[in-house]
Parts: sequence; structure tokens; C-alpha cells
Amino acid sequence: MAEAGARGGIDGSKGNVRLFGDPVSSVAVTGGRTVLGARTVVAGPDLEPMHDAVVVVDDGRISAVERRGPEHTVDIDLGDATLVPGLIDAHVHLASDCGPRFGGVLEESRLLLHAVANAQRFLRAGVTTVRDLGGPFTVGSDLRDAIDHGLLLGPRLLVANRVITVTGGHGHHMGMECDDVGALRHAVRQLVKDGSDWVKVMASGGFVNVRRSEGDAPYFPLFDLTEMRTVVDEAHRYGMRAAAHCQSRDAIAVAFEAGIDTIEHCSFAAKPHAVLDEDLVRAIAERGTFVVPTTNNYWLTVGVPWAPKDIALANLRRLYDLGVRLVAGTDMGIPTTTPDLYAEGLRVFAEIGMPLGEVLATATTVAAEALGIADVTGSITPGLSADLLALDGDPLADVEAYTRPRAVMVRGTLVPIGPGWQPAPGGGGDR
Ligand SMILES: [Zn+2]
Repeated sequence: MAEAGARGGIDGSKGNVRLFGDPVSSVAVTGGRTVLGARTVVAGPDLEPMHDAVVVVDDGRISAVERRGPEHTVDIDLGDATLVPGLIDAHVHLASDCGPRFGGVLEESRLLLHAVANAQRFLRAGVTTVRDLGGPFTVGSDLRDAIDHGLLLGPRLLVANRVITVTGGHGHHMGMECDDVGALRHAVRQLVKDGSDWVKVMASGGFVNVRRSEGDAPYFPLFDLTEMRTVVDEAHRYGMRAAAHCQSRDAIAVAFEAGIDTIEHCSFAAKPHAVLDEDLVRAIAERGTFVVPTTNNYWLTVGVPWAPKDIALANLRRLYDLGVRLVAGTDMGIPTTTPDLYAEGLRVFAEIGMPLGEVLATATTVAAEALGIADVTGSITPGLSADLLALDGDPLADVEAYTRPRAVMVRGTLVPIGPGWQPAPGGGGDR
């Protein structure tokens, strides 16, 4: 995927309109060369630790990763920090106040302000790429364009804009309500017109609802196979990828069968608690379909709504053991799940016994592949965007290191995260 430019491959789509001036000044490039030095650099697509190393950044891109030598003049010495690729959150809702109503009652201007603040909070937490999987209006793509064109400093955004759901269904407060194939086709084309990068479809109901209504339950599919295929095929026809919110087993099956690109949640929700269909899980693993289980601060504290903690963790472990490609994504925006808590999702992966090198991969290399941007970001490799995170400690030995960002760079620009910055109190305070 190109770093900027055409979105969805349609001339005249909003993504091609230069909303915020000349893209030549875009991407907040500082220009020139910056050399960063660190005791450890987790380098390359295999995330190999390289000791006493430098990363050379030229015009926003990584141009070299090598052992530190006398020929290097280090501009930013990160001391004993560990330098890892900037992290990726593959499932968020930026235009939310993280309050009990999930941003569902705020006017557009306030939603936009929350989106800006949340994007910048992600950056300070070391998250340099975010996939926004559902928000009202075109808040997501407008913010993406503002960031791409240098109006604001923020993470790289891939956005879905409005979600596709059924009348009264999950996410309808930020969605398009579609009840037949024609409406679904129209909805995808509308998203192309709006400048979306991804299509987000609700394959099932959910657990967080502004107003719970009939048909909005997590335990059964909202669309049949013909309808889901319409969404996926139409998205692919326009060069977009499609992600499906899937709680129940049957919803997962419909989305998978239709050829969905990423399965969100994949909880196998059922009453009284979630039960995996291992044959279906094996098929998902075999095809290599990416799963974003939306691990976050809920898992190890209050628990997830589809299973008691031990069962939820055992199910996640089983997905991992059966070879499913798991991707980090927090569902930021649901009540209390703020950008500052990003590391909690990685802690969940560590809790199920995933080796810490693979935990890092869920948030970097594998996430970039899932999002179709492995040629742009996701590892410290020459040619890729200079998206970097310096951590106090060693994340390959201690998952808590993710809670200690020391420096963040996005597209070659150093992010101010100094002692003057204090995180805003999380969620709930808006009205
Ligand atoms: Zn979500």
C-alpha cells in the first residue's frame, strides 16, 4: 500500500482531494539525517536483537541499521534503552470518549476532538500505526488526511469510517444500516467515496451497545453468506480489505467462508460461555486469516463478557497453539479502554505463555502484514518508515517494558513525550 495518495483506487474519492494543502509538505518530515544509538536495537523482519547499534534515518525513512562504529555521529543517544519498531494497534475506535456510552451521544465536533486526543495519546504510548475500525461520519479519514498532510502530529491511520450493520444492529450509531444485498453494495461504494481504507462489517451483534435492540445480540450472525460475500467481494473489487466483528461461532464461520481479511474478536461467544470450534479454528489457521482477539485491560481485571477469565485465556491459548496468526488490537474506545493502556493487551499475550519475541511480532511485523503495510512499517529495516519506540528495559525479557516508553519517533519525527506530559484521566468524564 502506498504511504499516501489514492485511497481505494477510485479517482475523485475524498482521499484524493487535498483537504489540507500540498502533500509535498506532508508526513511531518523533518528532513535531513538523524542517527539514533541504543544499547539494543530489535532489527529487521525477524526482530533480531542487535547490540550497541545505530539506526540511521534519512528524510523520514530508515536508511541503515548497523553496529555502532567510530564513523557514526550519534544525534540521539538512547543509552541503555531498547529500540523496537513503532507499535501497531489493529483495532480501535478513535472517536470515542472511552466512557460508558462509547462516544455514542456526542456531537460531531466533540467526536473529532476525542479522535485527535486519542490519536496523540497513542503516539505517546509508542503506537505509531492505528487501524480505526469504525467511527461516525468521516472523522477517521479526515483525521488521517490531516496527519498525512502535516497539519497534526499523529500515528499513521488506516480507517474504516462508518461500519456496516443491520437496522438497529451492533454499531448502528456509527454505521450504515443495510438489510439486503443492494444496500450492502451501496454501503461499500459509499465507503469508497468517503475515502475509507478498510471496510468494517458487523458479522454478529456485540456486547457494548448504545441501545440494545432486537437483533443485536452477540450469539448469532447478522448477515447470511450471500450478504457477507457481497461485502467482501465489493470491498476487494475496489482494492480495499474487509474486517469483520465476529463474536459467535456461526458469525465467524460466515465471515471466514466469505473470505474476510481479518476476523475481529473471534471469541466463539455462546451461552453460558464461549466454546471453540476447533475444526473452524484449524481452517482459519490453515488459510492464514489474521485474527485480532482484541486483548486489552479487561482480560486480566474485570474479564471479558463471553467467558470467565480462565476460559477466555485458555481459548486464546488454544488459538495460538493451533497456529492462528494473532494480531495486537485493543478495541480502544470501549468503556475504560484508553490509548494509554495499550500495553495491557500485550500483557494478555504474555499471560497465555506466548514467547515475548512473538508478543512483539503481534504488535509489529505480523500486524503490519495483516494490515497490508509490511512494505511501509512494522520493522526496523532500511527502506521502511522511521517509526521507532525506545523502551526503558528489554521487552524480549519483560513485558512490562511496554509501559515505559522513553522516546517515540513517527515517520522520522521525534514525538514530545517528556515529563511535561501527563495522561488525561481515562474515560467516563464526558457529560
Ligand atoms: Zn471494536
